[in-house]
Amino acid sequence: MPVLFVGHGSPMNAISENAWTRGWRALGEILPQPKAILSISAHWFVPGTFLTGDDRPRTIHDFGGFPRELYEAQYPAPGDVELARRVTKLLPEASLRTDWGLDHGTWSVLHHMRPKADLPVVQLSMDVRRPPADHLALAGALGPLRDEGVLIMGSGNVTHNLRQFFTDMQRGEMGTPDWARRFDADVARAVEQHDGDFLARAVETDIGRKSHPTIDHYLPLVYAAGAADESDAVRFPITGFEGSLSMRSAVFG
Ligand code: ZN
Repeated sequence: MPVLFVGHGSPMNAISENAWTRGWRALGEILPQPKAILSISAHWFVPGTFLTGDDRPRTIHDFGGFPRELYEAQYPAPGDVELARRVTKLLPEASLRTDWGLDHGTWSVLHHMRPKADLPVVQLSMDVRRPPADHLALAGALGPLRDEGVLIMGSGNVTHNLRQFFTDMQRGEMGTPDWARRFDADVARAVEQHDGDFLARAVETDIGRKSHPTIDHYLPLVYAAGAADESDAVRFPITGFEGSLSMRSAVFG
């Protein structure tokens, strides 16, 4: 299986029809059919490495101030306890939990990519206490799942500065700042070249800090890059910005 990274943007994309959601639908059509999906979402960033261990993970509406229609949206994909246990063999520090489910980093994308919600989905949390280099190494251990028919999917954004985003929105100036374009381009180049050292340190630069005041939306890309092989060709089926937010997606292999 290839490895996927998706830029998810606003939760409203879950129930919208736009260039991004059309791109996600097209992704669902071009990717080979997996047995299950292991999703690493920006929105499960907690002290520890956990897997959703539910047979029926609930749809989490982890956002505030959106229309009722969005809160009523459900993504009733089954879980896969066997896959969650398999991942604990690859990541000995990981354990199963049943107090999470599928957050919008996962379901807002899958709602378009796999509208039937018929494939089992497991989420993997990201340990907030660890630096990007640790996440990169940890993701490397997930590689064997690809040969077992599992689609590894990171869901975040290559640039994600919400304060900037909302300030621009209030001003009615949704242009893309130069720092966002530069960071997006630098990261894309590093991803293409499988430059793990760059990816592990990219958020420490000035434009990195500006692009990610917190690193939760950056790390899912690190997971996707870490799970990929150096021999994987990389392509970017979706590129572009929503204001300062990069909506780039990447397919490895
Ligand atoms: Zn998000």
